[in-house]
Amino acid sequence: MVTEFSIPPLGGSSAGRPDAADIVAEPGTAPEAVTADALVVFLAEGGVGSGAAAAIDAATSGLLGRLAAAGEITGKRCECVPILAPGGLRAGQLVVAGIGKREEFDAGTAYKAAATAARHLAGRPRSRVAFVAEPGWTPRQIEQAVAGAATGMVGQDLYRAEKKRSRFGSTVWLGAAPDAVARGRLLGDGVNLARRLVNMAPDDLYPQSFADEAAVVAGRTGMQIEIWDEDHLARERCRALLAVARGSSRPPRLVLLRYRGPGASGDRPDVALVGKGVTFDSGGLSLKPSESMLTMKCDMAGAAAMLAAAATLAALAAPVHLVAAVGLVENMTGPAAYKLGDVITARSGTTIEIHNTDAEGRVVLADVLDVVRGLAPRRIVDAATLTGACMVALGHDVAGLFTNDQGWCDAIAAAARTVGEPVWQLPMYPDYDDQIKSEVADIKNVGDGRWGGAITAAKFLERFVGGIPWTHVDIAGPAFAEKPRPWTDGGGTGFLVRSLVELLRGQQGSRQRSAPPNGAPGVTVMASQLARPAAVNQRRGGPAKVSSFGRGGLHLGIVRRPPSPRHPGDSRWDLSRGGRVRAFFNPVEGLPVAP
Ligand SMILES: [Zn+2]
Repeated sequence: MVTEFSIPPLGGSSAGRPDAADIVAEPGTAPEAVTADALVVFLAEGGVGSGAAAAIDAATSGLLGRLAAAGEITGKRCECVPILAPGGLRAGQLVVAGIGKREEFDAGTAYKAAATAARHLAGRPRSRVAFVAEPGWTPRQIEQAVAGAATGMVGQDLYRAEKKRSRFGSTVWLGAAPDAVARGRLLGDGVNLARRLVNMAPDDLYPQSFADEAAVVAGRTGMQIEIWDEDHLARERCRALLAVARGSSRPPRLVLLRYRGPGASGDRPDVALVGKGVTFDSGGLSLKPSESMLTMKCDMAGAAAMLAAAATLAALAAPVHLVAAVGLVENMTGPAAYKLGDVITARSGTTIEIHNTDAEGRVVLADVLDVVRGLAPRRIVDAATLTGACMVALGHDVAGLFTNDQGWCDAIAAAARTVGEPVWQLPMYPDYDDQIKSEVADIKNVGDGRWGGAITAAKFLERFVGGIPWTHVDIAGPAFAEKPRPWTDGGGTGFLVRSLVELLRGQQGSRQRSAPPNGAPGVTVMASQLARPAAVNQRRGGPAKVSSFGRGGLHLGIVRRPPSPRHPGDSRWDLSRGGRVRAFFNPVEGLPVAP
């Protein structure tokens, strides 16, 4: 069930109002007057200072000052000290969240500090939790803190009967502007979406079900979506992607999303977001050992990050024209699995000799990048859990950057720095190209030996971007946390979503989204002859089950095709809003789609 980006009830003047959400601003409420299960205040090193902590110190007859003087509270980064039943406050408890040195405070610290406090409090159900933003915080810092609090209260326990984390009934932010809080809420939705998809078991999240999730998210955020099934992929000559998928009983999918923000004109997208979506990676015939395979549900984290970033930007109404493309396969060992020594002709015409079937992500991305190249974006960024070699080089927490365009890479690194997601650039010297030369084909899918494996993988990808400014982000380390941290449970981290949103939101991207009125540009009709459910039904020649669920004026109509022997369990979808069909996408039969 998709929980993120649930749009508040539409209709009348209350359309899209942020106070319909469970995370809201109460800028005028004083901390000592707020009624809540808990009140969270942020404290820098060096004592109570002059901000919100000072006001609470005064209301509690100097309690914070005494605890700081005694060394019980230090304000160090990610320190989290609960004080139960404090006198002078109406909240049931006060949580003091450390933010480190005052002069080093930034948006990334705000995210982690708020997430740490939220994660602590979410250890049991809470109906209402209040956070106090510091008076000097910038809108960016408030947004990141709100997003951090939203992610901290969500755990990885999707399948536990007894949850370790409980989402608060409501979260209120004191001293914060409503529009910054609303933007932070959407950002939190984006990070939580990427995390949830990564945390889903591989038998639940496979290529088609990922595409179904993307369809719901696209409908909620107003993105156009195309889903290519295996027949369409074959017609599009995506032989490299199809080769990797052959070993699995789950057919592959390619999902293309498009979002045109306000002011976006022309057919050329400003940017293409490309994600690796290997929903499970056994390694194929180059089989992984058990301990390396256990976490390989996370091998679609690049695709999840790109879907989530695109959805967040659309929800923020960012002034950007973007496409996002994710290649979705399972890499398995079935009887038709691709083999070592196979030579595959990729969509671009480049021939690839397979030396290791576990180097499958780059083979999938070869075709996805070529599809994207055909859309002529001005820039490309891809995210992939691509190589263990990148983790050998940079560790678990830092992503590797690789580029053919230094300015584009610098922009990505700057955005990542702003929101506190660590990245580091690795070199792309021409000599590395020699290492992927093949004796029998144009290139092979691994380098000579294991040295520089993250770079030779990037060199492989570079062959498919057609000279378009491009940066590859290897997120093999930071996308998945094997152990919990103070600010997050283990599992999917949602890494890169915040950086990409920061990168692409633009100056005006800080506007609060309001839901589009019926008929406004949003989801577009993709195949006019199929613009009504009746037409879909007729064309199919069989009964379609039409169900709809709506909140307020929003109606999401879903047309589900009855399972056929050829495509058991597959579905096709039709979204409508306000009674009007706004999009059709056809994951099964490859009927005409928008150019
Ligand atoms: Zn692999």
